Amino acid sequence: MERMNQKEMQIPQPIRESDGAGATDFGPRDILRDMENPDMLVPPVTDAGLLPNLKFSFSDTHMQLNQGGWSREITVRDLPIATTLAGVNMRLTPGGVRELHWHQQAEWAFMIMGRARVTAVDQQGRNFIADVDKGDLWYFPPGIPHSIQGLAEGCEFLLVFDDGNFSDLNTLSISDWFAHTPKEVLSANFGVPVSAFESVPDGQIYIFQDEVPGPIESQAVPAPEGSVPNSFVHRLLQQPPLVTPGGSVRIVDSSNFPASVTVAAALVEIHPGAMRELHWHPNNDEWQYYISGQGRMTVFAGNGTARTFNYRAGDVGYVPFAFGHYIQNTGTETLWFLEMFKSDRFEDVSLNQWMALTPKQLVSDNVYASPELMHALRKTKWPVVKYPGIPPVIE
Ligand code: MN
Ligand code: MN
Repeated sequence: MERMNQKEMQIPQPIRESDGAGATDFGPRDILRDMENPDMLVPPVTDAGLLPNLKFSFSDTHMQLNQGGWSREITVRDLPIATTLAGVNMRLTPGGVRELHWHQQAEWAFMIMGRARVTAVDQQGRNFIADVDKGDLWYFPPGIPHSIQGLAEGCEFLLVFDDGNFSDLNTLSISDWFAHTPKEVLSANFGVPVSAFESVPDGQIYIFQDEVPGPIESQAVPAPEGSVPNSFVHRLLQQPPLVTPGGSVRIVDSSNFPASVTVAAALVEIHPGAMRELHWHPNNDEWQYYISGQGRMTVFAGNGTARTFNYRAGDVGYVPFAFGHYIQNTGTETLWFLEMFKSDRFEDVSLNQWMALTPKQLVSDNVYASPELMHALRKTKWPVVKYPGIPPVIE
C-alpha cells in the first residue's frame, strides 16, 4: 500500500497545490509528456487567455536519414507562429557531406559538437574555405553556394534560416541541377562530350558519405579575386562572455560578425536556480534553441494574456515581437540556449532598467511598489541572468 502511494506521488496530476483547483487525470494520458511539461499540466495561476503554441521539439519531427548523416527541421509547417526563422538540426559523419547547394535564404549556423569544413564562393569569384569547431558560427548570405563536410570526429550543428517557410529539403543543389539539365546542354556548357555526363546523379543527393578530407592546406584553392572580405565564420564560444551572477551571455550580430546582416543571436548560460530576467525585444520575434538543461518561460502578450511553457535540450521556443518574457532554469544542471532574431542587431529592453530610469514616484505609484522593490531597481549594461535576490551588475 505504501509502495503504491509512492508510485502515485511520482505521477503528476493536474491539481494546483496553492488553491486545490483541478482533479486527477484517469487517462488516457501520456505520463512522460506530462512530466516534461509541469507548467502546462499545472499552469501558474497567473496564466490566462489565448496564446498560440510557442514550443516544438526536434524529437517530434521527421528524420531524414542518409548515408553520411541525418537532418530534421522545425519550420512554419511545425510551429506556425515562427514565421521569421526556421531551424535545421543536422549530423554529419566523419567525411559526411551536405552537398554543394544554395538557397534564397541566408544560413546562420552554430556548431554543437565536433568539427566540419565549410566552403563557399561569392558572386565576385572570392572563395571561403574554413574549419569550424564546437561553439563556432557560420553565415552564408542568400544565394551564395556552399557546402559542409564532417571532419575526423564528425559533427552536429544547428542551422537557422531567415524565413520560417524555409525547408532544407527544398534547396537548389548541384546534383539536382545536373539531373534536370539536358546532357547536351551540360556538354555545351562545360565543353566536353555528352559521354562525360553518363554517370551524373539522377536526382538530389542532399547528404552523402565521402572520405574525411585532408588538412585544410591540402584543399586550398587559390581564387583570382582572393577570399571573401568578411569572414563567413565567427568563433562565438571563444568570445569573452558578459558574466552576471546567475550565468553569462555572448551576443553576436553584425557589429562583431559583419557578415551576419540578417541574423542576430545571444548564447545564454543560466545556472541552476537562476533566471534570464523579465525583458522583451524591440526589433523582432525571438527564435530559441535549447542546448542543455531545462527551463520554463512565461510569455506575456498583453490584454490579460500569458502562457507558460517548459523547455529542455532539443526544444525550440518562440516569442512574438515585443512580448514580455523570462527564462528560468528549473533543473539541476546549467541551462544553455540560443536566442535568435531576424535582424542585423541584438536588442533587449530590461523591465528592471526601464523602471530604474523612470521617475521614482511615477513607478512607485504605478505598481504600488514597496520600498524594497524601489531599492532593488538597477540600471544594467546588458541582458542579465540573475539569482533571485542578488542585485545584477550596476552600471
Ligand atoms: Mn545551406
Ligand atoms: Mn528574450
